Amino acid sequence: MTTMNPSPAQSAKIPYTTSDFATSPFVAFYEVTRACDLVCKHCRACAQPVSHPHELTNSQSRMLIDQFASFPKPPTLIFTGGDPMKRPDIFDLIWHATTAGLTTAMTPSATPLVTLEAIKRLKDAGISRLAVSLDGADAATHDVFRGVHGSFDRTMEILSNAASVGLTTQINTTITRRNFHQINDIADLIATKKIVLWSVFFLVPVGRGLAEQRIRPHQYEDVFEMLWNQGLKQEYAIKTTEAHHYRRYSLQRLGIEPENNGFDFASHGAQLANRPIKDRIQRAPLGVNDGKGCMFVSHTGAVYPSGFMPISAGKFPRQSIVDVYQQSEIFKALRDPNQLQGKCGQCEYRSICGGSRARAFCVTRNPLAAEPDCVYIPAALRTESVC
Ligand code: SF4
Repeated sequence: MTTMNPSPAQSAKIPYTTSDFATSPFVAFYEVTRACDLVCKHCRACAQPVSHPHELTNSQSRMLIDQFASFPKPPTLIFTGGDPMKRPDIFDLIWHATTAGLTTAMTPSATPLVTLEAIKRLKDAGISRLAVSLDGADAATHDVFRGVHGSFDRTMEILSNAASVGLTTQINTTITRRNFHQINDIADLIATKKIVLWSVFFLVPVGRGLAEQRIRPHQYEDVFEMLWNQGLKQEYAIKTTEAHHYRRYSLQRLGIEPENNGFDFASHGAQLANRPIKDRIQRAPLGVNDGKGCMFVSHTGAVYPSGFMPISAGKFPRQSIVDVYQQSEIFKALRDPNQLQGKCGQCEYRSICGGSRARAFCVTRNPLAAEPDCVYIPAALRTESVC
């Protein structure tokens, strides 16, 4: 690792808006490895104990990071896995991204690899935020999810250690039928941990998530109500992942019509009623979706619209990831709300919501099909009642 200072570009970034969707992702995920010591029930990646032999090398990874930095508006880069801590060169890769001007975050697995010393090294390398998973309000629920006894306690320790060195944290929670009744308890528990963001993920049936049961469509509305109320109460911000219809729910709660020209959608995050995040990672503008302001590069260089949507649109290093994001047919189709089908295609919220493209694909094999888990009936499809 060199000893250069981070690029000034990092602190002088021009805010990303919806007009950037066509040319730059707002957020990019790099799956640095599929190696992981946990066996989580819903793992997207079906992670394994050892790395794949064709995992991108250090020099290939550096080249990839340089391509992320070359987008017209460089994205926030999330190092994910597997467990990124299983890569011995992870600190070097973070530093390389930092010096290239990228804002970075990481999603380590809660294992003994995440020591206080390792957290200090991550911070020194330039990481802006650590995201750790918590899938239950108690050890019994969480540890069954993660497949390892002691994972809950380890997660709490990581949060404390990160806070002790001044590194900001977020919690990622996957909602399933096993834990959705614990939402309020989880919200109150993490309020004690000085986090800046709670990212609430709704299951997409991919990878090991195939075996896990996702909640029923009407239960999303119940969960949305709980999240909305928690958003009014908690200090930290709340966002949903792969539940884009929470944007529709939020606008309905605020009484804002989707066609309201006086409302500046571009400058608002998906969680409209929430507080700003207290670190340097910008809040996403409304409308980010799989392939639309979002991209994912796998451990072997496959380029996907997101980690939950395994449609390969290209292959790094054979192809430039900038070209794939801007030019591939699937990315372009996903960014066009007028190509959506079913009720999402006729919905007045399609530009800012559009439904989870990943869930639509994984359930129907059609990436443009209607979101399977939204109960909303678009205005254009409502029949007038006859007295
Ligand atoms: S019908 Fe589709 S676009 Fe409309 S709110 Fe539901 S998921 Fe979103």
